[in-house]
Amino acid sequence: MERTRIGIVGAGPAGLMLSHLLARAGIDSVVLERRSRDWIEARIRAGLLEHGSVDLLDRTGLGARMEKLALRHRGIEISTGGRRRHIDFMEATGGKGVTVYAQHEVVKDLVAARLEAGGDLRFEVEGVRLEGVDGPEPRLVWPGGAIACDFIAGCDGYHGVSRASIPPEALTLFHREFPYAWLGLLAEAPPFQDELVYARHEAGFALFSMRSPELTRAYVQCRADEDPDKWTAGELWDELDRRLAVQLNRGPLLLKSVTPMRAFVAEPMRHGRLFLAGDSAHIVPPTGAKGMNLAFADVVALSRALVRYYREGDEAGLDAYSDTCLARVWKVQRFSMWMTRLLHRDPAHDEFERRLGAAELEYLLGSDAARRALAENYTGLPLDLTDV
Ligand SMILES: Cc1cc2nc3c(=O)[nH]c(=O)nc-3n(C[C@H](O)[C@H](O)[C@H](O)COP(=O)(O)OP(=O)(O)OC[C@H]3O[C@@H](n4cnc5c(N)ncnc54)[C@H](O)[C@@H]3O)c2cc1C
Repeated sequence: MERTRIGIVGAGPAGLMLSHLLARAGIDSVVLERRSRDWIEARIRAGLLEHGSVDLLDRTGLGARMEKLALRHRGIEISTGGRRRHIDFMEATGGKGVTVYAQHEVVKDLVAARLEAGGDLRFEVEGVRLEGVDGPEPRLVWPGGAIACDFIAGCDGYHGVSRASIPPEALTLFHREFPYAWLGLLAEAPPFQDELVYARHEAGFALFSMRSPELTRAYVQCRADEDPDKWTAGELWDELDRRLAVQLNRGPLLLKSVTPMRAFVAEPMRHGRLFLAGDSAHIVPPTGAKGMNLAFADVVALSRALVRYYREGDEAGLDAYSDTCLARVWKVQRFSMWMTRLLHRDPAHDEFERRLGAAELEYLLGSDAARRALAENYTGLPLDLTDV
C-alpha cells in the first residue's frame, strides 16, 4: 500500500494551504480531490481576505499574483434610510484594510505552487473513505487505490466525507438555520465604486461587492426557498439599486444563484488521528466574509502542531488543536451572526425588534468605539504567523 505522512481530503483553500505549509516544513502529504482541477479553479465563492490571510499568502511565497490583481480597500459603506455612510477601517485599526482577491484565484495560486514543488495532488478521485482513524495507522481508501497515513486532515467542506466518518456520539453539532438566503449575481460589469456597500433596508439586506475591476458580485436577501429563475436580470439590478441606494453599473450576468445561510460548528475538531479543518468543521453565515479566512487559521494551527510533532516528538500541539481552533471559531461565529442579524430583515420580528435593530445600526455608525470593534473583527482577529 502507498504511504504518506498526512493524507488530506479536499483541495479547497484549507486542504491546499495545509499541504503547502507542510511541504515548506519538509512534511509530505497527498491531497485527494473529488472534482477536476478546472472545476476547483473556476468555482466562484469567497472574495475577501483578512489582513492575516494576506500576510500568510505573502510570507509563504504566494503573493505575486495577488500583488498585481488584488483590490485594496480602506473600509466599507453601510447604506440605511437611503444614505450611505463610510466606515474607515484603516483609520479605526491603525492601518488594516480589506483585500478583495477571489477565492478561485487563491486556489489557482495554491495549485500552481504545489504542482511546481512536485506536490502530490490527485484530482477526480471519487468514493474516498476514511478507515482506522481511531487506530495508529489510518487509511484513505477509494475504488482503485489506498494510502496509509500517519494522520488524516478532513478538509472536504461541509458536505464532505470526513466529518461523517466520525461516530455521531463522538461529535457535538451546533446548528442555526436562517429564515432567509442570498440571491446573488456575478456580472460582467465594472464595479461602480471601489468599496463594498452593505444595506439594511425595509425590504431586506443587500450587498454590493466585486471580484475584479471587471466583475461585479452583488446579493439581495431572499426567501430560503427562492427560485432564482423567477427574477429577471432587470428586476434584480433594480432591487439592488433600490436597497443599496446606488446606481450599479449593469452588464451581462455570468451567474445567478441562491446561497443558503447557515451557521454550524462541530466539536471537537479532532477524532483519533483525524483532524477536521475549514468548512468540514464549521460554517459561518457569509455576511462577515470569514469562511476562507477561518479555514486558513485552522490549517496554520494544524501545520504548526504537526511540525512540532515531527520535529520534537511532542503531541501537545495536536492535543490542543481543537480547543485552539474553536476559540477563534466561536469568536468569528459571534461576529458573523451579529452582522447577519444587524443587517437582515427577520420575518419573525415585530416592530419593537426592528426599531432595536435600527437603533443598533445608528449607534454603530455614530460611535468611534463601536466602529473600531467592527473594524477589528472585519479586518481579522490577530493570526500568529511567527513560525510560518
Ligand atoms: C456566497 C459565498 C460567499 C463567501 N464569501 C466569503 C468571503 O468573502 N470571505 C471568506 O473568507 N469566505 C467566504 N465564503 C466562505 C468560503 O468560500 C468557504 O468557507 C471556503 O471555501 C472553505 O474552504 P474549505 O477548503 O474548508 O472548503 P471548500 O472550499 O468547500 O473545499 C472542500 C473541497 O473538498 C472537496 N471534497 C468534498 N467532498 C470530497 C470527498 N468526498 N472526497 C474528496 N474531495 C472532496 C470539494 O470538491 C472541495 O474542493 C463564502 C461562501 C459563500 C457560499
